[in-house]
Amino acid sequence: MTMQTVKRTVADYRWVRTPEWCPGCGHFGVLQALYNAFAELNLDPANLVLVSGIGCSSRLPHFVRTTSVHAIHGRAIPYALGIKLANPSLEVIVVGGDGDLMAIGGNHLLHLGRRNVDMTVILMDNSVYGLTRGQAGPTLPAGIKVKAIPKANPQSEINPLLLALTAGFTFIARGYAYDIKYTTRLIVEAIRHKGSAFVQIYSPCVTYNNVMTREWYEKRIYKLDEADPTWDPVVHDEKEVDVKIRKALDKIVERDRLPLGIFYKNELVPTFEERYESIYDPNYRKMPPALQPIEIDGKP
Ligand code: SF4
Ligand code: MG
Repeated sequence: MTMQTVKRTVADYRWVRTPEWCPGCGHFGVLQALYNAFAELNLDPANLVLVSGIGCSSRLPHFVRTTSVHAIHGRAIPYALGIKLANPSLEVIVVGGDGDLMAIGGNHLLHLGRRNVDMTVILMDNSVYGLTRGQAGPTLPAGIKVKAIPKANPQSEINPLLLALTAGFTFIARGYAYDIKYTTRLIVEAIRHKGSAFVQIYSPCVTYNNVMTREWYEKRIYKLDEADPTWDPVVHDEKEVDVKIRKALDKIVERDRLPLGIFYKNELVPTFEERYESIYDPNYRKMPPALQPIEIDGKP
């Protein structure tokens, strides 16, 4: 008897609880893109784990039919890391806002990047702390005055993609919540990627960010692959790493225009799981050089 593969649809990932976000919030688009991506990849909900911290965006796992952890503020990544390393066969995805992942959880993000654990981080970026009434978030550009602050923001902003790339993430992409089709594609690619993947999604807060609105974004965004059909973010050979990083950086630091798409993808870097296994593999000397553990006194 042959086993039939179950083909899941979006409905298989919708939980009975419906989202409590303000009407028009960008997070609805991110949630839909995640449902679409899960269905396209036909992920088994029993094998899928969503982990979040605190914030409007961090409520997202409540609306997905899967195992999830709504952890404490800023700590979604260490929770997720523990889950993934305890059971590497799970598909682990972290979701969170700019406050949670870039401010209080910023340090964890850096250390996930350098480890290159095979998991995905989705940043739902609206540049404010929506849950606590719209204070300036770490990605709010200097000079912008949103409702909740008395004067224009005097602080410089974090560029999440720049941070993720330099931390060592091997997949870097940016989407836009109101373009669900395109964002779905990016999430699919991020989940498929072998290594730590980071996707920033502009996800406007319609209640508290009265400056960075749909109109504000739509004046600025463009798609890398549409603007340049030869755009190729993939590192095909070790020798290309520097060139590909430089090309990605040029786009990541654009300020007046905001590119969307995949900026960088490198699967030649071993994952943490591969490196860890190689230490205990008796045949480690036969492995590709990148995977061979460093020997001390003839032992790994
Ligand atoms: Fe979305 Fe902002 Fe409402 Fe939170 S406060 S649900 S981020 S629109
Ligand atoms: Mg936010």
